[in-house]
Amino acid sequence: MGLEIRGSDIVVVGAGRSGLALARYLAAAGARVTLSDQRRAAALAGLEELAAAGVAFDLGGHSEARFAAADLIVISPGVPLNLPALAAAAGRGTPIIGEIELAFQQLSAPLVAVAGTNGKSTVTTLIGLIFSHWGKKTFVGGNLGTPLISAAAEKDWEWIVAEVSSFQLEAIRTFRPRCGLLLNITEDHLDRYPDMASYAAAKANLFMNMEKTDTAVLNADDPRVMALAQGIRARRVLFSAQGEMSVGIGFNGREIVWRGFGEERRFAVAELRLRGLHNVENVMASLIPALLAGCPPPMAWQAVCSFSGLEHRMALVRVLDGVSWYNDSKGTNVGSVIKSLAGLAPPVTLIAGGKDKGGDYAPLRPLVADKVRHLVLIGQAAERMAEAFQDVTCVHRATDLRHAVERAREVTPAGGSVLLSPACSSFDMFTSFEDRGRQFTELVLACEEKLDAATSGSTI
Ligand code: ADP
Repeated sequence: MGLEIRGSDIVVVGAGRSGLALARYLAAAGARVTLSDQRRAAALAGLEELAAAGVAFDLGGHSEARFAAADLIVISPGVPLNLPALAAAAGRGTPIIGEIELAFQQLSAPLVAVAGTNGKSTVTTLIGLIFSHWGKKTFVGGNLGTPLISAAAEKDWEWIVAEVSSFQLEAIRTFRPRCGLLLNITEDHLDRYPDMASYAAAKANLFMNMEKTDTAVLNADDPRVMALAQGIRARRVLFSAQGEMSVGIGFNGREIVWRGFGEERRFAVAELRLRGLHNVENVMASLIPALLAGCPPPMAWQAVCSFSGLEHRMALVRVLDGVSWYNDSKGTNVGSVIKSLAGLAPPVTLIAGGKDKGGDYAPLRPLVADKVRHLVLIGQAAERMAEAFQDVTCVHRATDLRHAVERAREVTPAGGSVLLSPACSSFDMFTSFEDRGRQFTELVLACEEKLDAATSGSTI
């Protein structure tokens, strides 16, 4: 589908960060643009600049007439395809595409796209670091940070690295990465998808348009990933944390071993600043696109070794009275909490709960039984989580995060850890996982100040 933007009548749905960037891009490219959002103008920012650029608005709901008149509708990542005005437009044959599809059609550099339930942001960042360290002018964004459409505005990128969510992959047509990574598939977002099969199917769209000259990077240890990749046309390159691979990249407990096409390289994992087996997986997956593109292996390795991780992912906030406090606010599903807990020694006090996504907490039970002495629950999911864990650990209820931190401080002995890794999204009590992580960090740091005040008092 070759898109004619100039002179077309285009409705952009959703006035978040991606929607604003889309409207700006399309107006500059000569389209007649309407930005539509169910929120009213008072709840939105950044509209004046768009109005000055000639963008029209359809706010406080979506006008079916407005949608009906469009040549094309472009949706922001969070917008569900079953919105009534969208369904009606689709019924009339109006093309509807997502932001990443539109962006893809405008890109002039090869694209590396990163999908999966967990590890996307870490891997996207790592790949960007490697290409940049190699001296390539690299755009890093997508679902993480800057919307992909912003990469289309500049034409001199040499590589484009984008994190893509399953929601974004639902609304593609021709989107075709040169290299597509599928890191893992575990339960998540069952509030949006009817079942795991539909969630996995959305992720499989990543490979839909990829051909033999493209590369699919796949987690050999994940049966759901391997099942989805059965029929794809792209060349497959596998990574595994369970042993060395005859072709691909593997881990033998000490070294990452790359056996690409005709060469073998070994990298000592002790040199990494990132911790945990899941991060070994992330590093392995991240190395592949650049190694295949011809980046000298020592240069790629140097780049990954310089990285100590993103904020709100297993970040050690402080050690207070011999207790280590970790912020893993980005642990928003059961799969990621499993990885985070697996890296800690008991006794752990786990602070969890938040907006329930309708998944099953049972896969966490063995690890909770093994490592978690106290589980402090917050938010909407507290009830369901209490039911899931009350027979394997000591469950506490907290009214809010402050109360949860106080409780954790009372019950955790020296030598133990407190881990905020909610297994839920944050939107019941916070504006985002970042907001939740920052509030947690502040509460922990406030404990430190109290501690300082108490000790200095005692020495006078
Ligand atoms: P995403 O962008 O997919 O949400 P992140 O890189 O932000 O992923 O990591 C989110 C959380 O997922 C981390 O805090 C960690 O607990 C967990 N995680 C990271 N990488 C992996 C992985 N490869 N497999 C499973 N869990 C992971």
